[in-house]
Amino acid sequence: MPILSRGAAEPPDWDTFKVSFDAGKAPEAGRPVPSTEAARRGGLFQTCANPACGSGWLHLWRSRSAPVFEGGWNCSAGCTASRLALAVGRELDGRAGAQEGHRHRVPLGLVMLEQGWITNGQLRQALDAQKQAGAGRLGHWLVRQQGVSEQLVTRALGLQWSCPVLPLEFHDAEALTALVPRLFVDAFGALPLRVAAGRLLYLGFEDRLDPVVALAVERMSGLRVESGLVRGSLFRAAHTRMLTQSFPPVELIDAGSEAAAVHALSRSVERARPVESRLVRVHDCLWLRMWRRPQPGPLPERAGVQDLVCSIGAH
Ligand SMILES: [Zn+2]
Repeated sequence: MPILSRGAAEPPDWDTFKVSFDAGKAPEAGRPVPSTEAARRGGLFQTCANPACGSGWLHLWRSRSAPVFEGGWNCSAGCTASRLALAVGRELDGRAGAQEGHRHRVPLGLVMLEQGWITNGQLRQALDAQKQAGAGRLGHWLVRQQGVSEQLVTRALGLQWSCPVLPLEFHDAEALTALVPRLFVDAFGALPLRVAAGRLLYLGFEDRLDPVVALAVERMSGLRVESGLVRGSLFRAAHTRMLTQSFPPVELIDAGSEAAAVHALSRSVERARPVESRLVRVHDCLWLRMWRRPQPGPLPERAGVQDLVCSIGAH
């Protein structure tokens, strides 16, 4: 599903309404074009997306350039706040139920032993070294101390996580920074690798997948995300390179409570008056993305989006 069809992202103003109404443009699949949606309902004006909105038509007429959140237009700051409160509640509810990727995995050493890629002796020595150092992953010690090939370690990690090992050719880090806040690349080790066919995003990790981040990026970008592992040394070089690039502007907020988060998020939406905005949860953060203008293709323009990442105290 295209995340932001051009029509859907256009600000709901009179001209848009007229043009698309006159042209009889069909709503894009999955998300109705706001202007035709208004026409379909037979009203002259946008309908506020807040189900509890009590504004009269004159107010709706006056505020027709108001911000859009999750495909719906909000007629007032109060309605924006109501809708953000619902969205924050929805995202935080999901947190309680989600078993975040903690399931039993065959230890890496056993995978490699089973495949015949290492010997018992190599495994025992690498485990000893890891124990003595009190740091470093087993794969690191197998490569560093036992001379095991890094490629084999990555292949074994791929078996362990049942995921592909992704190549890292033609990595256009600069073009891909528009997809996620720098924080996610830095703190969660998620590396956007490539967009294929305009609808599939390959997301690389070094030694473990992060399904929570992958799902968040998928929901936010509208691209299907395929996660995989990248050979350690290649990953680290590309990761470092990507962090030197420019990312969309981001505001980081530490909210003490759910109410404080709602307040900060809705204030930000009201201030930016985006043509579209969305909220998703990523671990203990809420990620709000605002599009200041319609997205030209599968990748947003870096200057056309702005992010807000809000952490909500201890839970
Ligand atoms: Zn309203």
